[in-house]
Amino acid sequence: MRRLIAIRDRQRANRPVVQVGIIGMPQKAHEISAFRKKWMGVADSVVVSGIVSRLGSISFVNIADSNWQSTPCFYVWSQLPVLSDGTAALCCDDWDGVAAMGNLYSSTIREIWTCELRKKLRILHLAGRAGTIPACQACRQPRQGPWWFANGVSGERTTPVSIPGGG
Ligand code: SF4
Repeated sequence: MRRLIAIRDRQRANRPVVQVGIIGMPQKAHEISAFRKKWMGVADSVVVSGIVSRLGSISFVNIADSNWQSTPCFYVWSQLPVLSDGTAALCCDDWDGVAAMGNLYSSTIREIWTCELRKKLRILHLAGRAGTIPACQACRQPRQGPWWFANGVSGERTTPVSIPGGG
């Protein structure tokens, strides 16, 4: 990470932006202060985030925003994670590709990004009907709309876990 940042800085480039993060969960509480200390002033941002549900595979996520179910999820417009076998997952929460959108060994990124299925998912999210999409229905991810969405971005993804001494 430090090498990447050094190379970028040597080139006087402002990309890539380097963000490091740790999940604010009780099991990690003892590491958070040290994590912050290690990366503050090194990475461009240091984030302690809440727990997300990974398509429902983690069940104990609290959601702070009561409007989350009718808010479109900006991931549908911003992410196309690719797994090691070429599977194009729906979003980063789709960690094992159960909601795969295609495979890069048989389709281009453009084809997957603009396919009818992807368009349909976006329309359903905008219509507040993400709950009709099996993967999104199972997901307990607090949703943030894309920046151009009328209700904006709440910035509050999950209820922060109380971490003694976590800062
Ligand atoms: S609602 Fe959940 S499953 Fe659907 S795109 Fe957003 S994060 Fe992924």
